[in-house]
Amino acid sequence: MSDKLLLVPLGGMGEIGKNMFVYQYRDEIVVIDAGLKFPEDEMFGVDYVIPNITYLLENQAKVKAIFLTHGHEDHIGALPYVLKQLPVPVYGTRLTIGLLKIKLDEHNINAVLKEVKAGEEVKIGSFQLTCFHVNHSIPDSIGLAIKTPVGTILHTGDFKLDQTPVDGKVTDYFTLTRLGNEGVLGMLSDATNAHRLGYTKSERDVGKVFEDIFGKAKGRLIVASFASNIHRIQQVFDTAVRFRRKVAVVGRSMIKNVEVATELGYLTYPDSAYVEIEELDSLAADRIVIVSTGSQGEPLSGLTRMAAGSHPRINIVPGDTVIFSSTPVPGNEKLVSKVIDSLSKAGARVIYQGIADVHVSGHASREELKLLINMTRPKFMVPCHGEYQHQAAFSDLAQLMGYDASAVLSVENGHVVEFTPDSARVVGSVTAGSVLVDGIGVGDVGNVVLRDRQQLAADGVMVVAATVDRSARKVIAGPDIISRGFVYVKESEDLLSQAELNVSVALHKALQDHTDWVALRNAIREPLANFLYEKTRRRPMILPVLLEANRN
Ligand SMILES: [Zn+2]
Ligand SMILES: [Zn+2]
Repeated sequence: MSDKLLLVPLGGMGEIGKNMFVYQYRDEIVVIDAGLKFPEDEMFGVDYVIPNITYLLENQAKVKAIFLTHGHEDHIGALPYVLKQLPVPVYGTRLTIGLLKIKLDEHNINAVLKEVKAGEEVKIGSFQLTCFHVNHSIPDSIGLAIKTPVGTILHTGDFKLDQTPVDGKVTDYFTLTRLGNEGVLGMLSDATNAHRLGYTKSERDVGKVFEDIFGKAKGRLIVASFASNIHRIQQVFDTAVRFRRKVAVVGRSMIKNVEVATELGYLTYPDSAYVEIEELDSLAADRIVIVSTGSQGEPLSGLTRMAAGSHPRINIVPGDTVIFSSTPVPGNEKLVSKVIDSLSKAGARVIYQGIADVHVSGHASREELKLLINMTRPKFMVPCHGEYQHQAAFSDLAQLMGYDASAVLSVENGHVVEFTPDSARVVGSVTAGSVLVDGIGVGDVGNVVLRDRQQLAADGVMVVAATVDRSARKVIAGPDIISRGFVYVKESEDLLSQAELNVSVALHKALQDHTDWVALRNAIREPLANFLYEKTRRRPMILPVLLEANRN
């Protein structure tokens, strides 16, 4: 029996977020990335979603290392939670490790962190990993060529092929073609933009648009972008210097990212180009650029607070120009649109993608994907970092290039993909899914809690309180109804007193037949729910609170 290489995605399949990929050969496991995902609308109160790592915990002794492709949250965000349960060495490039350190410090976690460079080879058991540089919307991104006794797997990580990147470092075409010549068994490819025609524009193109906008602006310029998009921030600084403006930085994550990137040399600007936010008042409006968080309309971010007039230092005034140098992540469109509206109301000129090309994607479009496939000619491909529509678009693209449909595997989280030197197929599945993080609770919010939160948010809550004497089978006090988020109490007195009457009758009746608390509570809940639904078509959460009368 020939040896097999297993690939088990624990996240990142059929979704954009919580990327985590397990490679297993015999009793050795190497994990690539451990990211988080931001919650969906109906996940009330949930802060993050992280991958379920049961499979790794069951195979803890086999896990040798976690490799990181780059410093985005959807690739490193779950590490504070993962490392608590699975303390293994983490490998990443300098900026990735720098950003991770901040995160781990916040969680008081000590981890073994190992810096690698693009071009470096790392041997871990039977795995030989080659890190190769790729372009993406954060510097110091890498892909990994994973050489195993079964064959080589190319794990692209998030990438694009930018011929004119801001830092001059292009995707490592040389290594990719060399690997292609040596033979690639499988490729896990970023499929985020597999549906987009042509090529993704160069990051540098945004700089040209900035130049145009900066040249025309008469007042302050405020640029909102992802805090991790260091090349974008670099271009803001560069353009600001050209137009003799100074840059102030607003927002916790933006300040931290600018700090780390400057310290590690990924962001460079003359000292004189930087200004503290407290010193802005001493500058004329046409000498100011503010770089801020809030490009996704996040309610507590710098820009959102400026737009709402609740920022302690900066108010939007007519003459301001605000640039959204980003596109909304799916699900954030409404939030962003609301902020754009408030900014416009306050008199700012707002420029966003669509009005001008103030953003480019960090992911490869179809022609870039084709180029990569032609350079490497993998036998099998697994599109990842995409929803099913993106995975399907990738499969179509490969078939256009002459690949057989069976060469592109459709893989879901938890699937076990088995590679042999000449085959690849899904052979089974393991536990995988989402763990919800709410505050300091990890995994304690499950489906039941979420359903409660959905019900509370949709129809409110009604507390029914009564004191009963179970041995005398009598209601001593109440029932009283208190409701929140259900109806406006002052205008619904009739409804509520009718409800009280109903509960009273039901409770008296129930006391004749039952004395156990569960039966009594149910005797209140069911008729009340039916009554309220009949009258209002709403289903508030009903909480009966019954007390035993004090008999002495
Ligand atoms: Zn990324
Ligand atoms: Zn990503």
